[in-house]
Amino acid sequence: MKPFALPRFSRRHFLHVLATCSPFLALARSVAGRPVAGKVVVIGAGMAGLAAGRALADAGVEVKVLEARDYIGGRIHTDRSLGFPFDLGAAWIHGPEGNPITELATKAKGRMFVTDDESVLMYDSRGQVVDGPSMTKGERRYRDLVKRLEADAPKQTRDESVALALRRIAPEALADPLMRYFLSAYMEFDSGGSIERLSAAEWQNDEKYPGKDVLMIDGYDAVTNWLAQGLDIQTETIVASIAYDDEHVSVTDTHGETYEADAAIVTLPLGVLQSGGVTFSPGLPARKREAIARVRVGVVNKVCLVFGQPHWDVKTQYFGFQSSVMGKYNYFLNTRTFCDVNALVTFAFDSYGRTFEQQSDAQITDDVMATLRTMFGDVPAPERVLVTRWGSDAFARGAYSFASVGATRQDFESLAAPVGKRLRFAGEHTSAAYRGTVHGAYLSGLREATRIKQLLSA
Ligand SMILES: Cc1cc2nc3c(=O)[nH]c(=O)nc-3n(C[C@H](O)[C@H](O)[C@H](O)COP(=O)(O)OP(=O)(O)OC[C@H]3O[C@@H](n4cnc5c(N)ncnc54)[C@H](O)[C@@H]3O)c2cc1C
Repeated sequence: MKPFALPRFSRRHFLHVLATCSPFLALARSVAGRPVAGKVVVIGAGMAGLAAGRALADAGVEVKVLEARDYIGGRIHTDRSLGFPFDLGAAWIHGPEGNPITELATKAKGRMFVTDDESVLMYDSRGQVVDGPSMTKGERRYRDLVKRLEADAPKQTRDESVALALRRIAPEALADPLMRYFLSAYMEFDSGGSIERLSAAEWQNDEKYPGKDVLMIDGYDAVTNWLAQGLDIQTETIVASIAYDDEHVSVTDTHGETYEADAAIVTLPLGVLQSGGVTFSPGLPARKREAIARVRVGVVNKVCLVFGQPHWDVKTQYFGFQSSVMGKYNYFLNTRTFCDVNALVTFAFDSYGRTFEQQSDAQITDDVMATLRTMFGDVPAPERVLVTRWGSDAFARGAYSFASVGATRQDFESLAAPVGKRLRFAGEHTSAAYRGTVHGAYLSGLREATRIKQLLSA
């Protein structure tokens, strides 16, 4: 066991720049004054871990970030194999006004593109375009439905799923293809959970920043790469166990290497915590274990299809499709509205998202193409296709957390609660206000960095 064991260069990649070279550190010292002494291990180099690592390093703390994958960013991962930046995970800054990610993206010089939810052309299941007035009326009915759900939930003695509540108060909505579209494209996509698993009482208990969502068109990794500059990040290091007491924390990886520190921040995704692949000694308190078990992680998958020619209106932002299966390819993002690549991106949410992961890329492509041919006629096969499988990704085990039946805001707070003096938890699932988002993950990292700075300064 040795503190911050030396790296084995053959299998690990280091992103380490001398602290004295970091422009951030110089700034932090001049602003915050005396550096804070101490060693901290951050587990996970996703948005939460990078935010925490950055804030601590800037304050003068010796930080090591341990990351299982061979790249940083976690559920922010920009792929460029298709010839353009395609975000496999997070792509939008949701509610950019006052959102800390907007400021980061500006500093990182990431170009932002405002998406317009009104720019949508909707097709019914037979490929007929749904006219504008029907869409407007349908959306109004959906908003009314949400209000009825909100009014009904407090009257119930126990929590139930959105689907069960709807069967009781508005069964006709579940049979209406346009309502099913809104329930899936709005509610399921936004929350990450299917209406069969989403809590009728709690699904909306989080908060939002205002403003129209923006896409990071050069890739979301502009932000994570910017945050990571100068940080000591050790990739390809899978943490297996964490031992802690009131004096220190020892983190051990799957090769038996141990890293000792004054404190640690655990940013493991909720799905990874649920899998039990990382053990804690002593075991986590009951309240934390119960919250880990109760809050669920949804699945959101993407399919990106690149074509030789656009077979659709290049000025329309989105194409909607009234799929007979909830969560299945009901929404297509048209990349031609913000770049010159002829690509469509579609989604598979939660329940269908898991079924989707059992299929081969070829099966998925055939299936998406059948939908596109219903919508646009005889579209030739795509030239390139990229498919995500976040549910079976061992280091994510899902897309993002949501308020599942029985889970309350208190559970998200329990996920955020420190354990003892030196073990802290961050990550999107620890943000009661902004769960399931990049900004939630970022703010959770800052929250824990502040707590640790207070601990180390005491
Ligand atoms: C398909 C998809 C679309 C999304 N779209 C958006 C969007 O448009 N806008 C938005 O705001 N949010 C979006 N999100 C959610 C957003 O990506 C996440 O909320 C956020 O990135 C989570 O950050 P995090 O740091 O909490 O977790 P992560 O990014 O998952 O970071 C945790 C890190 O821990 C690492 N790790 C796991 N196990 C171990 C281990 N044993 N040892 C060491 N390291 C380990 C992981 O590899 C990972 O790098 C989307 C997510 C997905 C999957």
